[in-house]
Parts: sequence; structure tokens; C-alpha cells
Amino acid sequence: MPLAFGSALAFWSCQKEKVTQILPIPVQDLPGDVLPAGIAEKIVAAGFSTSKVKIIPQGYVVEGDVLLTSAELDKKLTKPSRGSGATPLQYTTNQLVNAPKGQTTVITVQPDGELMNSRISGNTDYYDRIRDAVARYQAVSNPSLRLYITYAPSYASTSGYVIHVHSAPSGSPYSGLAGFPNNGQPYGDIYLNRDYLNYEAPETVTTVIAHEIGHCIGFRHTDWYDRSISGCYGSESPNPDGANLVPGTGVDYSSWMLACYNSGQNRPFTTNDILSLKYLYSL
Ligand SMILES: [Zn+2]
Repeated sequence: MPLAFGSALAFWSCQKEKVTQILPIPVQDLPGDVLPAGIAEKIVAAGFSTSKVKIIPQGYVVEGDVLLTSAELDKKLTKPSRGSGATPLQYTTNQLVNAPKGQTTVITVQPDGELMNSRISGNTDYYDRIRDAVARYQAVSNPSLRLYITYAPSYASTSGYVIHVHSAPSGSPYSGLAGFPNNGQPYGDIYLNRDYLNYEAPETVTTVIAHEIGHCIGFRHTDWYDRSISGCYGSESPNPDGANLVPGTGVDYSSWMLACYNSGQNRPFTTNDILSLKYLYSL
């Protein structure tokens, strides 16, 4: 069955319309999975839609983009703050990385071996892309942030926090997946779907990795309340992770934390992105 290649929009986590010979139909057109008893009720209670929920080993992918574990579904709900107007601003989750003032908190982004050895179109690989994604953060952290994000090969020993980057199982219903901080620690795992990303432009893969790192340290989508702003369907719930406006951020249709991206797109940090990073983790 041929794909409908109309908009060539691609989605950060769960959907993508990109040209690909890998999947028989666009992921966003796939039906949701049959949920275990009681789970749909919990998803509704947490404020999320139960439409097209996907079950993956780590939990449930809801609203196309958000990973919820069973533990998160049982969390106490939180009241969100929100900017006025339907404009994409910067938002953070309730929980952030514990990075004390006056210290440098190091997070190492480390791909697993399978991903280390994978190639991407354009004669590059995932390790190069991680390096470039990390470089975007380092350009801000030196000299402004107390959070220092670095990278290391799979065989290197590390200290401090580690975000492991894995190859997603083939056929996974997302192109990239991550979660939010918990107990003061960054979310420790990013999954990248080589079914899609092997065929993307190098800068797009860099952007996806930088975006997923953003989730791991506490950033929500800038258009969480209306994902059509960046071109995908639906909206996300502020619960259970919170959606807290970063003061001073303005309209920004180029943010690295928009929910969706166009195939081939590169989204280096904007002025608002840098302001938000400083707001959360400045020295
Ligand atoms: Zn995302």
C-alpha cells in the first residue's frame, strides 16, 4: 500500500509521515493497542486521551508523544500554570534535575553499542549526532549553566548522571522517545528509531537528539496545549508531570522543543531556548 506523502511532516515521538520504505503505513494511522483492564481509566484520570495509546515495554505512549509508566499514572495530579494565548512558549515539568548552585552537575550522554555502530545517510553516525547535539548545550553551558552535558562512547566509564541512548526496537511507534526527570535525576534513557532516523538529514537527527535530551532535563513541548502549532494532531495534558511557563519567553515557532518537526529540518537553539535553559540551570 503506497504512503500518502502529502505534508512530509515528522513527529518527535510517535508519529511520522516521512517518506520511508520501512513501514507499510504511516504510524499515526495505526490503531491504538488494546489496554489492560483499568489502564484506560487511569489515563483519563491523569488527563490524557486514550486515543491510539501504544503499549511499549517501558509503559504507555499517550497522545503520540508522552511516555507514561504505570508508576507515573498513579502519581498525584498537579495544577498547571499556563501562558495566555495560543502561542508557543517555553514550559517545564514539575521535576527538574537536581543541580545545586555553585556546582557543576555533569550529565553524560552515552549511546549503547548497537547505536554506536549504526550509520545515518550523509556519511555520519549516531555518535557524531550525539556529539553535535551535546555541543549545542555546551555552547550555552560554558559559561552560563551549572548543568554540563557531555558525551562518551559506550565503552567509557562515566561519573555523575548518565543518559543512555538506545536503538529502539524495529517497528516502534515513534522516532525518538524519552521521559522527564524523577527524584532529581535526569531521565536516563533515550530511544532512537533507526527505521526513520537512518534516512534523515544529519542535522535533523542532531535536532531530535537535542530535543530528547531537553525532555530528560525537564522541558515539555512548547506547544503541548495545541500540537497543531507545529503540525501534528491533538494536545497534551499538563498532568501528571506539570507544565510550568518559563517567564519571559515569547512567541517562538522555531524552538527545539516544539512537538513536531519537518523532515530535513534543523532546529538549533533560539534566543528563547537559551533563555529557558538559563532560567532552569543558570550558574
Ligand atoms: Zn518531544
